[in-house]
Amino acid sequence: MKTIGILTSGGDSPGMNAAVRAVTRAAINRGIRVMGIRRGYSGLISGDIFEMDVRSVSDIIHRGGTVLYTARSEEFKTEEGMQKAIQTCKEFGIEGVVVIGGDGSFRGASDLSARGIPCVGLPGTIDNDVGCSDYTIGFDTAINTVIAMVDRLRDTAQSHDRCSVVEVMGRRAGYIALEAGIAVGASAILVPEVPYDIENDVLKRMEKISKTGKKHFIIIVAEGLEITDKLTEIIAERTQMNTRSTVLGHVQRGGSPTGYDRVMASRMGYHAVELLSQGIGNRVVAFKDSKIVDFDVQQALSMHKEFPVELYKMAYEISI
Ligand code: ADP
Repeated sequence: MKTIGILTSGGDSPGMNAAVRAVTRAAINRGIRVMGIRRGYSGLISGDIFEMDVRSVSDIIHRGGTVLYTARSEEFKTEEGMQKAIQTCKEFGIEGVVVIGGDGSFRGASDLSARGIPCVGLPGTIDNDVGCSDYTIGFDTAINTVIAMVDRLRDTAQSHDRCSVVEVMGRRAGYIALEAGIAVGASAILVPEVPYDIENDVLKRMEKISKTGKKHFIIIVAEGLEITDKLTEIIAERTQMNTRSTVLGHVQRGGSPTGYDRVMASRMGYHAVELLSQGIGNRVVAFKDSKIVDFDVQQALSMHKEFPVELYKMAYEISI
């Protein structure tokens, strides 16, 4: 392969830049030209593409977001859009593409691979909701951001004997809620994957814990449940505690990536180039059982990751 493209697609996540850097440098080192494609598949359709050199990716390893910008493209899902993208690849001599994004982006990568442009996907999303991989680029930074924010909330919750209900990101996935919840010692963690009962899992639990002398509480809720306001009201009413809700929102998507995210993104980017330089495409790079591996895209999309219910149970046992 003489020329590859690289794009970031779907939601951004901290560490995407570290992956872009690794892909660019590893490819150039192997004598492969690298084309930066702006705004995901939209840029591939419109030809918003520039050649990168080793210095194009200087000073980005520590930056959140993505220097390539990201977007969602409905047009790319149509055969016409796809054909335009293939035409652009031909114009720029792009023979393979590294796609950093989530499951949706991998579906696009699979469609492109099937039409003669081998693609390799890298899991980049803060939600950690990619079935084939134990970890996704940006997840570690997001957890640490939540921890930093909740530590601040805890100071004021403690000073005022308050209950703080914190909504964290995760529409269909409770990984951020679970891991950040454990790390901040939340008294309750509500996620989409585990059925819950507000009466027993939150209210009675708070009652029981307060009997041991605890006077302030942190409750973590995944956004997908859409219960933050209601839950805050119920807790305030039942416990008579001063109860406040905080929606952390997009702060969780930004910020300088942690060391872990930078290293993992670099390793995954490097692995993608190893595949493409051998002409291997239609793969998704993953972290499985502590190893960097890769899967066929269709297989990757069909894989399901079990939610770590044992961690969830542990959290409830030790946060009393
Ligand atoms: P993520 O990659 O984070 O899951 P999306 O689901 O929004 O984010 O997908 C990102 C982009 O990938 C979409 O805007 C679209 O261009 C492309 N895409 C998503 N699903 C498909 C599909 N079924 N076929 C082709 N392209 C798709």
